Amino acid sequence: MIIRSAALLGSAPDLASCPQSDLPEFAFIGRSNVGKSTLVNMLTRREGLAKVSGTPGKTQLINFFIVNESWTLVDLPGYGYARTGRKERVDFSSLVSDYLQKRPNLRVTFVLVDSRLTPQEIDLDFVRWMAERGLPFSLIFTKTDKLSRAAAQANIDAFLLRFQEISADAPRVLASSSKLGHGRAEILELIASTLAQSAGDREAVKTIA
Ligand code: GDP
Repeated sequence: MIIRSAALLGSAPDLASCPQSDLPEFAFIGRSNVGKSTLVNMLTRREGLAKVSGTPGKTQLINFFIVNESWTLVDLPGYGYARTGRKERVDFSSLVSDYLQKRPNLRVTFVLVDSRLTPQEIDLDFVRWMAERGLPFSLIFTKTDKLSRAAAQANIDAFLLRFQEISADAPRVLASSSKLGHGRAEILELIASTLAQSAGDREAVKTIA
């Protein structure tokens, strides 16, 4: 896919404020610092489209970027830890939870995971939450330039092994380095094929109707 245009469509503090649009949406989420903003800028080749390392603690917003006038890239606020008693668990806002469960035009969520780390409970908790609700997602292992290919693959394999405890359906797995531009073609290809599929589905509905 060639990116011809990418621009901020709007920002929303709650589900009701999300832009009225029926363009297909592709959302990106991960723990803070996983490399999400850098990846959004790398995918769109727009330096500064998403703000890298934004000030923590400021109002959480969902940012919508319209791409090629045909689909929307959605930058979701990250998830973090909440402590309940002695246990830590994954925590994200009702904004994120509402968007992921109720936005009709959401097609796929990309869950970003730092390839440098062994499987983290917080990431596994988040994908468990997604899998339990049947929400479609793909994994992107980020920052692969920071370690050897074998070390990154070992972390990816370990994560997928843990995921087998959650679901028998293996998610689609991609890897990226925003520094080297790796993974860009594969991620955009996955978006393009999902777009082609939903266009096909719409045609099929028309034919049946
Ligand atoms: P966000 O909080 O998930 O949006 O993370 P950022 O995009 O702000 O990235 C966090 C830090 O990681 C920044 O210092 C980035 O320059 C760095 N970073 C992000 N992606 C990569 C990558 O692919 N390779 C390397 N070496 N550094 C990266």
